[in-house]
Amino acid sequence: MNNFLELKNIHKTFKTEKTVKVLKGLSQKFKKGKIYSLMGPSGSGKSTLLNIISLIDKPSSGSMKFDKFQIDFNNNGKNDIFRAAKIGIIYQQNNLLADFTALENIYLASLSLHNDKKLAISKAKQLLKLVKLSNRSDHYPSQLSGGECQRIAIARAIINDPEVILADEPTGSLDMNTAKDVFKLLSSQKKSNKLIIFATHNRFFAKKADYLLEMTNGSVKTTNV
Ligand code: ADP
Ligand code: MG
Repeated sequence: MNNFLELKNIHKTFKTEKTVKVLKGLSQKFKKGKIYSLMGPSGSGKSTLLNIISLIDKPSSGSMKFDKFQIDFNNNGKNDIFRAAKIGIIYQQNNLLADFTALENIYLASLSLHNDKKLAISKAKQLLKLVKLSNRSDHYPSQLSGGECQRIAIARAIINDPEVILADEPTGSLDMNTAKDVFKLLSSQKKSNKLIIFATHNRFFAKKADYLLEMTNGSVKTTNV
């Protein structure tokens, strides 16, 4: 299988009062149909890397290709559309819209791309079934448990059938049993046409990926697990 995502010599430096060099010449290739886990201590640059891959942030230098297509990090308009269509993102917590129900949180992600509300709602209902939360359709995030919120976040991330799913410590704030369920749901999204990358502190989950990437000194070391 060809490489789908290629990062080349990525540097990322944050300049506030102090200059922090987070990524220092990171190069990595990712294939579709595989799951990659990203490990490393807090502050090692996992979120920074995922934010660059999701085109939310741009590197200080270096290049990135999706499907041989060179990303222009300065083309925000185009990148926003690319992200909405091709990338599903799941964060650790609190990333659902508080004033919207579970169903709305899911289908709004689809409306940002297409304007067919009926179709969006019907897709969202199917996804609620998939994540086993049909009975929570009209509940607000504050009325849901942490694990339920993450299931909704996964449903929302996959409604546009993205080619890339990025998850930043998706089970980081859950107890182990709930974390296992959420992780299983995330892993079940592995398909030949999808690339999944998740950051985690948990070696048990990290080792269930096809490849384990460890952040070391601003770069990554890859292990085939
Ligand atoms: P991780 O996700 O592995 O815990 P991060 O990618 O969040 O690590 O952060 C890596 C380093 O970059 C940390 O030292 C953090 O303080 C710094 N950092 C992250 N984002 C910013 C920012 N917007 N401004 C300044 N420093 C930042
Ligand atoms: Mg982080």
